Amino acid sequence: MPTTHLDPIDHLLAGNRVYAARTSSRNPNAFTDLAKGQSPEILWIGCADSRIPETTVCHCKPGDIFVHRNIANTVHADDINAASVVEYAVTFLKVRKVVVCGHTKCGGANAALGDADLGVTLNTWLHPVRE
Ligand SMILES: [Zn+2]
Repeated sequence: MPTTHLDPIDHLLAGNRVYAARTSSRNPNAFTDLAKGQSPEILWIGCADSRIPETTVCHCKPGDIFVHRNIANTVHADDINAASVVEYAVTFLKVRKVVVCGHTKCGGANAALGDADLGVTLNTWLHPVRE
């Protein structure tokens, strides 16, 4: 469904309409069922890289995986965002497995292996990985 001539947001909205129509066509109760809640068995901590959408690459459905993604799939000791995701997943969703998944050609991991100045935010983020 590449529609490179569309505005990126228009592309998203068009894709969402296709997804909603196909999903409802295949399972008329799909969205009603999803609205009832979630009980994923897996927490996935992955990279924010656009090429690695966990649900797609693992051939899973919405509701199958609770997700936290960031640059270079890292969990810092003082990262309240990641900590809250892990705590919610383990304590309340009672996931059975936690997956920390890297990937080949990870720009974040490659950057962390080097010492290039990436600016304050990215240097700070990658610092624990660089150590
Ligand atoms: Zn990556």
